[in-house]
Formats: sequence, C-alpha cells, structure tokens
Amino acid sequence: MLIALLLSASLTSAAVAATTPAKAKGGEPAFDSTRAYRYLKEQCAMGPRIPGSEAQRKAIAYFTAHFRGLGFAVSAQSFQHADMGDGHKVPLTNLIVTIPGREAGRKPIVLCAHWDSRPRADQEASEMLATQPITGANDGASGSAILMELANGMKKKAPLQTVYLVLFDGEDYGKEGNIEEYFLGARYFADNLPAANLDYVLLFDMVGDKDLSLPMEQNSLKQSPAVVAKIWARAKALGIPQFEARPGPSVLDDHMPLQQKGLPAVDIIDFQYPAWHTQGDTPDKCSAHSLGAVGRVAASLAFRGLD
Ligand SMILES: [Zn+2]
Repeated sequence: MLIALLLSASLTSAAVAATTPAKAKGGEPAFDSTRAYRYLKEQCAMGPRIPGSEAQRKAIAYFTAHFRGLGFAVSAQSFQHADMGDGHKVPLTNLIVTIPGREAGRKPIVLCAHWDSRPRADQEASEMLATQPITGANDGASGSAILMELANGMKKKAPLQTVYLVLFDGEDYGKEGNIEEYFLGARYFADNLPAANLDYVLLFDMVGDKDLSLPMEQNSLKQSPAVVAKIWARAKALGIPQFEARPGPSVLDDHMPLQQKGLPAVDIIDFQYPAWHTQGDTPDKCSAHSLGAVGRVAASLAFRGLD
C-alpha cells in the first residue's frame, strides 16, 4: 500500500450513516479463518514476491493451482513495465478468477487484492535493511489469502452475482514519492476489464493486522458513500466491530485507477500498522481472527449481495 494522508474527519454524519442492516440468511458456507491464515503463511514462505523473482513465479503457480483446483477459470494478464529508473523490463502478472453467479441478470462484482510484496523496506532506519525486500505478510499476503479462502466457499455455493477475484501485481513497486510506479497491475486491469458492466469493486489491503481497525477510507467514502455505508452496515449487522463507522485516512491504493474509470471502488484497509514497509511485516503480526473478520463481511456481500 502506498501512502495515507491523514485528513480531518470533515465528512458529514449523513455520509457515514448506516443503512438498514441485512437480514440474516442461513446456508452460506463458513469462512475458514484458520485456513486463510495458512494461505498467508504459505505465501510468505515463498519469500518476497517481487517482480522478476523466483518467488514471483512460484506464487503465480501457487495461486493458479489453488483456483483451478477448485474448478474455476483463471486467466493471467501478463505485461511488462519499463522501470522508470533504469529502463529495465519488469514482468508483471495479474490473475483473474471468474466465478459465475446464481443470478445471471445481475452485474458482476470485483473482489481484489495485490499479491506482490515491496522490493524495499523504506520505512527501516537502517540503510542496509531499507534496501532489502519485505515479506509482506499484511501488505500483500493478507488480501490474497482472503480471496483464496472466499473461493473455497464459492465452490460450495455460487455467489449471488458473478465474482471476479482479481490478484494485482506491482502495487508496491514504486519508490517513495513516485506515484506513477505504484498500482501497476491495477492500472493495467482498469484498462483491460473483464466485463463492461461491473457493479462495484472491493479492494482488500493490509487486512491481517492482529490489532485490526477498519475505519472508512476517505477516497472510497468520497466516491462511493452509499456503497461504503452498506458495507459497514453489513459488518455491524454481522457483529464485526473491526469495521468502524467513522472516516479514516485518505489512502492512495489500487482502487484509484478503478475509480478513475468511473467504477465504484472501495478500499478496505487498516493503515495503522507499525510494521508497514519494514522487515517486520511478518505473519506473527497478523492473525486468523482478523482475516476472519474481513472474510465474513466479504462472503456475506458476495453470497447475499450488497442490498
Ligand atoms: Zn505497501
């Protein structure tokens, strides 16, 4: 994740007012948070998943095998980025998993996360540590782990709307201060969408922090206040207190290129994470419990719909 600007909480209470809570409905597959946490650790065990690395290739194979193993179609968006520093070609791959919905007439939704990890730990004070890539347990692996576990549930029961699970590469490639080199996969995806009539986009980034707190990200709130209100109302109805119905930081992340295409795009993110962009972003800073809190809300939205 790139950067957050702490803004005053100037949004009106109307913008964050909860809508009517959804009625509970049975028969939904459970979100297995222990298994999701295992997926987080498995990604980290490959090493930093940075562009051009062996770990990058392993991770692409790992994700592809998981989703194909469940019987879902996986397509790869592979492309190259010319590094803005020295011009070398950087190989990047987004993965798009298509899961057909129960009601064909409804618009599809996108549930997405970045899967790459940052090539440098710029928040480290020591220059030696700062030049090394990060494990990216929370910043990378957490959102991907949630998408992997959601797919297990969707194998048992189809979601309401068709779901595209999208794993973005190259979110965290850019050097600090050069925004043009962030969100590389999301930019490419925004220019090459799998369908023209997408309903909304939900991004999961830094959602594994043991001490999880999810206020409403301000760029999401500004662009899609109604969608944000419905998501946080659903969390409240499900009894998930980590979703806090108040404006949080304004974050630049993979949702921005999609918002720029006019798609309602909401970032679920906890930016209050001391290990951000350090060598300390490791699985022990994350928990199954936190992944479960986010996963249950995501599953509810996918199986029941937003309204
Ligand atoms: Zn990051």
